[in-house]
Amino acid sequence: LPIVHHKKILVLGLAKSGTAAAEILHDLGAFVTVNDAKSFDQNDNAQYLLSKGLTVICGSHPEDLLDEGFSLVVKNPGIPYTNPVIAEAIKRGIPVWSEVELAYLISDAPMIGITGSNGKTTTTTLIFDMLEEGNKKPLIAGNIGTVASAVASKAKKDEVIVTELSSFQLMGIEQMKPKISILLNLYEAHLDYHSDFKEYTDAKFSITKNQDATDWFIYNAEQQLVSDYALRSHARKVPFYVSKKTEDGISADDEYVYWNGERLFEKSIIALRGKHNLENVLASIAAALLMECPLENIVHVLSSFNGVKHRTQLVREWKKRKFYNDSKATNALATKSALEGFSEPIILIAGGVDRGHSFDELIPYLHNVKALIHFGATVDRLQQFGEEQAIPSVVRVSNLIEAVEEAVKASAVGDVVLLSPACASWDQYENFELRGDEFIQQVMALKEL
Ligand code: ADP
Repeated sequence: LPIVHHKKILVLGLAKSGTAAAEILHDLGAFVTVNDAKSFDQNDNAQYLLSKGLTVICGSHPEDLLDEGFSLVVKNPGIPYTNPVIAEAIKRGIPVWSEVELAYLISDAPMIGITGSNGKTTTTTLIFDMLEEGNKKPLIAGNIGTVASAVASKAKKDEVIVTELSSFQLMGIEQMKPKISILLNLYEAHLDYHSDFKEYTDAKFSITKNQDATDWFIYNAEQQLVSDYALRSHARKVPFYVSKKTEDGISADDEYVYWNGERLFEKSIIALRGKHNLENVLASIAAALLMECPLENIVHVLSSFNGVKHRTQLVREWKKRKFYNDSKATNALATKSALEGFSEPIILIAGGVDRGHSFDELIPYLHNVKALIHFGATVDRLQQFGEEQAIPSVVRVSNLIEAVEEAVKASAVGDVVLLSPACASWDQYENFELRGDEFIQQVMALKEL
């Protein structure tokens, strides 16, 4: 790679992706300096990189760091553009990449890139499963635990890199050009650390900015902002529509899924619930079809895929009650999406860290919630909310174990028991994964008789 060989490169941020990028750049013949604001001892990988011969600067971002004459900066997606070193690099005209740009440049394997405000992990996982069953040799990369550049450095030409891309990763791309890119949706509520909505949407749209007529862009044609932007993409366009049959792209009505207006299969074979999941499902089918994955493999995955862990995941059907783990739902908007997906009576388990956020977003979706069982720091507010909204039964408990016990007592045949807390977990758990794991454990322990 001439762009990095014998070049001085600064890698900023020593977390997983920074360490992987630094090591790859070093192996490609670059002179790599890594810098992290945390101290040497707090950086698990500092000693390792030092022993490999990289320059390691820890504990601060020295003001004169950039005087070393770097030709490139690779940054961890978590480091904001307001970071003084990044801001200064941009001022000096030094390119600032995210680690996915490197991933793209070092591999000949085609890339499928997935972005959007919601549904990225679900879609990435679905596509991976479909391609795997269809023998298309997918590799999974990005936010899902595996660093994209590390995956790309080992990828073979006949493999496919399926990668989830956050807006932060997309802000730092120059040439990255996925074979297939997917934009699922855009919601203003997901502003995160971005300075404004335009910066956020521009970053998301850049997933297609380098694509040309040999590539494909799969996008949500029922969101005005997304479809307006799609006009500017140079890729072949594959719109998706979750609410009506269309003659172009991929679409679904109440009965069937259609590909360019032709029936593919009955919609009822899809195991995942909810209109929001249909976005993820249609985008995934389109990507798999474009990769020439056999339809029977696609159908098989759709009929068995019960959701990614902790994301409206069907855990168990027990005595004709279905138990769903949506521990990932750490705000009311996510819980709203989950509620929307069910027409059955719901026993909702919620509560956790109290950030003072309103639960009002849930109000239009409470009509089939027959019980609210809640725990955590939000107990007083959720008790009041449940009573005000006249939920038939509102029960305060002290932890999730009790919540599952109460939910079982309150449940009847045909009910859904849904853990979708609408709150973060760290008042009682280290993270939402451990909260979800505890729920799974309790539900799996329920006796058959
Ligand atoms: P991401 O990776 O973008 O955070 P996930 O696939 O992990 O998304 O889903 C997280 C949560 O977001 C789910 O539990 C669900 O409540 C909601 N969600 C998933 N897909 C969508 C979608 N297409 N539109 C709106 N909300 C969604």
